[in-house]
Amino acid sequence: MADYEAIIGLETHIQLNTTSKIFCACKADSWFDPPNTNICPVCTGLPGVLPVLNRTVVEKAVLLAAAMHADIRPVSYFDRKNYFYPDLPKGYQISQYDRSLARGGFIEIPMPQGYTRRVDIAKLHIEEDAGKTKNDHGRRLIDFNRCGVPLIEMVTNPDLRSADEAAQYLIRLRQLLRWLGISEADMEKAHLRCDANVSIRPKGADYLNPKTEIKNVNSIDAVREAIEKEIERQTREVEAGRRIEAWTLEWDEDAGVLRKMRSKETEADYRYFREPDLLPITLDESWKGDILAGFPELPLERRSRFTRQYGLPEYDADILTGERSLSDYFESAVSAYGGAYGGDPKRVSNWIMNDVQRMLRELGIPAAQLKLTPAFLAEILRLVDAGTINTSTGKALLGKVQESGQEPTAIVQAEGLGKVSDDAAIRAVAEEVLRENPNEVASYRGGKVTLMGWFVGQVMRKMRGKADANLARSILEEMLRS
Ligand SMILES: [Zn+2]
Repeated sequence: MADYEAIIGLETHIQLNTTSKIFCACKADSWFDPPNTNICPVCTGLPGVLPVLNRTVVEKAVLLAAAMHADIRPVSYFDRKNYFYPDLPKGYQISQYDRSLARGGFIEIPMPQGYTRRVDIAKLHIEEDAGKTKNDHGRRLIDFNRCGVPLIEMVTNPDLRSADEAAQYLIRLRQLLRWLGISEADMEKAHLRCDANVSIRPKGADYLNPKTEIKNVNSIDAVREAIEKEIERQTREVEAGRRIEAWTLEWDEDAGVLRKMRSKETEADYRYFREPDLLPITLDESWKGDILAGFPELPLERRSRFTRQYGLPEYDADILTGERSLSDYFESAVSAYGGAYGGDPKRVSNWIMNDVQRMLRELGIPAAQLKLTPAFLAEILRLVDAGTINTSTGKALLGKVQESGQEPTAIVQAEGLGKVSDDAAIRAVAEEVLRENPNEVASYRGGKVTLMGWFVGQVMRKMRGKADANLARSILEEMLRS
């Protein structure tokens, strides 16, 4: 059997998280609203209305184009893409065609295997969404809420070589969109939609075979699975001597199979022409400058800086830069912890990855909203370092600070959480423990030295976790020796 490689290009539609739609004042996000409640004469295409461009849409698109290293055109145009479909009341979609907002661009995707896949961007433009149709017991229902919701269509060149690479591309794109704050990028809610073009060819060949298009996949796992299945199917067909036909396939999530939607015919003639009701987008230097003034360091750049600057393992750097808010939190905590104390960034990372992240998951909020601020986390670490409290008290303190919003030091004083390193106090409790457990004492003296951990645990329990565990151990050892 010959060795094949897959050739994959992804076409994504990104729903921007603006408050209102692209050409009217209707509410953009209707996820929780009943059908046809966020509509008006503009977005339902009634005669005599004119679209007015929402500037925020352009601003968000410029941010994405900049992040993709694309050329941003100073003047770009809207075009009408004409086609007839029940959920498109105007009979055309306002999109951009030959002079779109951005040209070119690329993104580099680090793969878990260690190599990087560069993906070139073939298309990046602004457009409006169409409505939704739904079949209901033989009737076709239409919801126009989605008409006029702002989208960016972004299409890659066929640069991806496996289902895994396609999944990584989507993972990094989703991370980037959230990082830039331009889309919620939730595939389950169709904020990020993806169609995949897939073909195969013998490894090393430089021609392209006919491709199929997979539609209707609404999670990253589903994209991976659907592409894998399609590569397998095409390989079987080619091995059997059959030709691959340019079908459009639909992913059936529940059955985990691809179904043929239609044979793909020649590209539809959309009869594009310039949208006469809208001015070109003129992006002068001062507007562009304002948009890009606060342009952030991007996630993959920050990830590599975290390994360089803080000496973090790649694993830590990847998790900490998963979200912008978390990466900011880490840096603030390191700088609060460092300073005169020379705090170790890896120690901050450990506490965040183990404890703070669990807290974030449970609360379902971003790091920026924690009452346990980076400064408070740093203060807890310093209290542990200074021996004022032990580690388990420190961990318990995280939750107490989050609940009350109070300073860690104040809580330690108010609740008397300070570590008991008072020799006499521990000694008294240790004596009590030995007196109450003569059988264990006999076993220990008879050679079962592993019981030491249990004795220490009893002392800690009686002292509500505040005892200095090392001191308790040496006192117990001394007593049991005598
Ligand atoms: Zn409207």
